[in-house]
Amino acid sequence: MSKTVLTAVAWPYANGPRHIGHVSGFGVPSDIFSRYHRMMGDRVLMVSGTDEHGTPILVQADAEGSTARELADRYNRVIVEDLAGLGVSYDLFTRTTTRNHYAIAQEVFAGLHRNGYVVPRVTTGAISPSTGRTLPDRYIEGTCPICGYDGARGDQCDNCGNQLDPADLINPRSKVNGETPEFVETEHFFLDLPALASALAEWLKSREDWRPNVLRFSLNLIDDLRPRAVTRDIDWGVPVPLEGWADRADKKLYVWFDAVIGYLSASVEWAVRSGDPGAWREWWLDPETESAYFMGKDNITFHSQIWPALLLGYRGLGDKGGEPGPLGELELPTEVVSSEYLTMSGSKFSTSRGTVIYVRDFLREYGPDALRYFIAVAGPENQDSDFTWEEFVRRTNFELANEWGNLVNRSVSMAHKNFGEIPTPGPLTEADRALLDVAAAGFDTVGAHLARSRFKQAISEAMRVVTAANRYISDMEPWKLKDDRERQATVLHTVLQVVADANTMLTPFLPHAAQRVFETLGGAGVWAAQPEVHEVIDDLPADPIGVGIPELGHPYPVITGDYIVEQAVWRRTEIVAGTPLVKPSPLFTKLDPSLGETGPEWAPIVTAPAEPEGAA
Ligand SMILES: [Zn+2]
Repeated sequence: MSKTVLTAVAWPYANGPRHIGHVSGFGVPSDIFSRYHRMMGDRVLMVSGTDEHGTPILVQADAEGSTARELADRYNRVIVEDLAGLGVSYDLFTRTTTRNHYAIAQEVFAGLHRNGYVVPRVTTGAISPSTGRTLPDRYIEGTCPICGYDGARGDQCDNCGNQLDPADLINPRSKVNGETPEFVETEHFFLDLPALASALAEWLKSREDWRPNVLRFSLNLIDDLRPRAVTRDIDWGVPVPLEGWADRADKKLYVWFDAVIGYLSASVEWAVRSGDPGAWREWWLDPETESAYFMGKDNITFHSQIWPALLLGYRGLGDKGGEPGPLGELELPTEVVSSEYLTMSGSKFSTSRGTVIYVRDFLREYGPDALRYFIAVAGPENQDSDFTWEEFVRRTNFELANEWGNLVNRSVSMAHKNFGEIPTPGPLTEADRALLDVAAAGFDTVGAHLARSRFKQAISEAMRVVTAANRYISDMEPWKLKDDRERQATVLHTVLQVVADANTMLTPFLPHAAQRVFETLGGAGVWAAQPEVHEVIDDLPADPIGVGIPELGHPYPVITGDYIVEQAVWRRTEIVAGTPLVKPSPLFTKLDPSLGETGPEWAPIVTAPAEPEGAA
C-alpha cells in the first residue's frame, strides 16, 4: 500500500555557497530517500529552504555594506542553483523571508503563548562593551560549565550537547574581538520546556525504531531541559505577534525558532502554489504519515526534542494542557536521520579554515552523479568520513566507470553490433536464471536498506548486482557465440535485463546517469525527473495572522519539480525484445589519476601545517 511520506531536510543558512560537506550529510541522502519512496508509489512531499534570519547574516551584511535582505537574496539564489544542479528533487525549496513563513511562525508562537508554553522572563543579555550592540550567543565562546569543554558556544555545547546560556559560560569571550561581554537585563519569551518534558519523554520512549544513538542522546537530555529563549534582541527577524511587541524593531523571534517552523511553512507554501491550499494537511495531520527529518549531528537536539516540544505545546499536550490552534493537531517526526561530518584530511569543512570544495565548482567539472555516488558510498552516514581526491578518483574510475559504465557500454554495444536491437531470448540456462534471480532479489534487499536510510549498504548491494552481471559476461563470453545466435541472443537479453534492473536500483543515487541508461536501452520520455528552478513572486497569503510581514511582490527562485511524470518504479521493468538500439557513448568520464595527487586547480591539495589549537 502506498504511504504518505514527508521528507523534511535541514535548512541551509544563507550566508554563502554550499560546499560538499554541506550537501553530503543530508542534502543528497534525503534526495535518495525521496526518490526511492516516489519509485515505490508513495506520496512524497520533500521540503526545505534557506534560513535567512539571525545575527551572522546581519554581521556579514554590515561588513559587505549591504542589507541583510540583499545578502539573503544573493545567497538564497546561489544555494538554489547548487542544490538544483545536484538534482535534489524538492517539491519546494523556499526561504524564511516570505510572507507565508512569517505568518506560520507567528501562529506557532501565538498558539504556544495561548496554551501557556511560552512565558515572559527577565534575563541577561550580552552586549559588546566596545560597540554597545547585542552580542549573539553564537559569537560568545567559553568553557562549558557542565563538561568543561573549552570551545562551548553561548547557546550550546557541541561536546556534551547541552543547551547553554551565554551567562553560564566560564570565562566568556567575544569571538568577534576577544573582549569579555557585558551582561544586562532584558525581557524575553521563553519556551517552557520543563512543562513539556514529560510529554516529550513519553513520546521519545515510543520511538522504538529510531537509531539507538539518537534515542539515547535525546532521552539523556530530558532531565536537564530548561526554558529556552524564543525571542532575541535583534532587528532582523520575524516580529513577535503580541501587542506591545509586534512593532518593536529591537525584538524578534529567535532565528532557531522561526527556522525550525520552516518545514511546516514550506509545506503550506507548496500547497498554495500547487493550487490546493489545504493539501499540506495530508502530510501534517495524518498519524499514518511517515515524516523523516534529515540533518547533521549538531542539529539532533532541535529535531528530536525542541521541534517535537513546539508541536506538543501547540497541540496543548504538555503539563499545562491547552487546545490546538487553527493549524490543527500537527504530527511529530517519525524518523530523525542524522549524519556525521565530511572532513578533508582531518579538518571539518569550514570556510574559515580555507579547506573548501564548493558544490558549483564540483558540478561544473565532474557533474552531479560522481559526487552523489561518492557521498552514498563513502559519505559521513554513520561516522565522520574524509574526502580525498585520491579516493574520489578511485571510486569514479574503478567503480562508476569500470564497473557500472563499462557494463552498460559493452552489453549494449554487443547487442547493437550483433542484433541492432534487444534480441529475443531462447531457453534460459541455470546460469541465466541465477543472474536474473540475483537482480530480482536486489529490489527487496536494496529497498529495505533505503527505507531505513542505510544508504551505504543500499548502494553496496546494488553494486553487487553490477558485479554479478560483469562476472556473468566474462563467464559466458558472448563475443565467442557468433555461431550460436540463439545462445548469444539469450545471454545478451539476460544481461540487458539485469542492466535495466541495476539501473532501476541505482536511479535514486544516480538519477542523471539513470535517465541516459534508460534511453540507451531504447526508452523514451522521463525515467528520473529532475528538479526545476522557477522564478516566483511573494504573493502568498499571510494566514492566520501576519504582523510586520515582508512586502508583497518580492521575486525569488524556488526549486520544485513535476515528479509525477517519471516512469521509474521500484521493481523489474521487463525489457522488450525488438527495441532498436544505438551505439552507446561512455556513461562516465574517467579521471586523470594525477588528480588524486594534485587536486584540481580550484581546490589544490596543500599540505597544511598542524593545527595549533588542540581542538577535540
Ligand atoms: Zn559541555
